Amino acid sequence: MKNIILLGATGSIGDSVLSVIKQNKNKLNLLGISFNSNIPKAKYIINEFRLKNVYSESDESHKSLKHAFKNNYELNILKDKSELEELLNEDDVDIIVSAISGFAGLESTIMAAKTGKTILLANKESIVAAGDVILPLAKKHSTEIVPIDSEHNAIFQCLGFDKKTDDVSKIVITASGGPFLNKKISQLSKVTKKEALSHPNWEMGAKISIDSASLVNKCLELIEARYLFDLDEKFFEIVVHPQSIIHSIVTYKDGSSICQMSNPDMRVPIAHALSVNDSRLNLDFSKIDFSSLSLTFQKIPEDRVQIFNIARYICNNRGSSGIIFNAANEIAVQSFLNEQITFDKIYEVIYRTFDTVSLSKSIDLETIYEIDNQTRIEAKKVVKSIS
Ligand code: NAD
Ligand code: MG
Repeated sequence: MKNIILLGATGSIGDSVLSVIKQNKNKLNLLGISFNSNIPKAKYIINEFRLKNVYSESDESHKSLKHAFKNNYELNILKDKSELEELLNEDDVDIIVSAISGFAGLESTIMAAKTGKTILLANKESIVAAGDVILPLAKKHSTEIVPIDSEHNAIFQCLGFDKKTDDVSKIVITASGGPFLNKKISQLSKVTKKEALSHPNWEMGAKISIDSASLVNKCLELIEARYLFDLDEKFFEIVVHPQSIIHSIVTYKDGSSICQMSNPDMRVPIAHALSVNDSRLNLDFSKIDFSSLSLTFQKIPEDRVQIFNIARYICNNRGSSGIIFNAANEIAVQSFLNEQITFDKIYEVIYRTFDTVSLSKSIDLETIYEIDNQTRIEAKKVVKSIS
């Protein structure tokens, strides 16, 4: 039996993880969750999984759970960070799923990196901002990181058991292109929130849905891949594949290309990652109908190349550049969702903020938060100047 702590349990990735656990109750046990504000969903999870531990920093969530579960003496309702850290380090914890959205997931991902357990990583923003801190910490503490972002999980599977990249000549990361693939940026000034949130293939949380529509998600994923597989950015090619059936392709130096395929369903990479180093789990997945399948590929639209050039610059220069890119994007996305800026201005907020905040060559745990904070202030100024 593998015991799991699910950080960010009430979100979209949380749902997929819970569904895989439910289908594999003989092998997987949910030991604890963290969440932010979705109290009804947290209550449902607590009851459904007979949970022993729940953590939320929010006063309202904590109070509400204390009241609702005052007679449940089996349930630990945690609020202090030190309690969360203790929980993650408990002997019987095997797997920690990092599924909080955005930079908010960094703190608990860093805690998880120090445990020596297995991290299932969805929270790409923490790697983009702090890969240079998290990966050395994980290495030092023998913490294994298994990606559940579908493209990275695909690469992980295609690399085989030893995960060696010595013989790799190229890695193709596929991109669906999102809902605005065939529109120029200049045509995006009038798109609505609803249109931007409606991804053609995947159902996801709001932030990553907007990132997918702007293709910034793929920029974050390029940086994430650069860190997780420790390869130069030159190895990675981004190709638009609107059907989202092939999740990534690894080409070896002898000419073989290996890909991983499934219908777009996050439970597939999650089921793989939850079974890592063990036999595969069961999943009621929808089968690909190969006889009626038509797969197409195309280049990244010309006017999105500039944003990918920044992502490639970040892969090469590291330091604080990933923190700045991520924070500028988080403010831009929030400002779009708050209807302060139009969709096309997301790019402008990122470009102008990235040009304004000075880059530093190295980062540590303290400076990450300072730089993130400073960038958010600058990005908000840009938003104000164009809204
Ligand atoms: P979501 O918005 O649906 O859920 C986010 C979760 O994080 C919720 O449980 C929420 O309570 C929690 N959370 C948010 N802010 C928090 C805070 N300050 N403290 C504690 N918890 C907090 O997001 P999602 O779509 O599930 O995405 C989660 C992560 O997984 C993101 O980094 C995203 O890029 C990545 N990811 C998602 C998908 C997908 O299909 N949804 C695919 C690949 C990668
Ligand atoms: Mg992805």
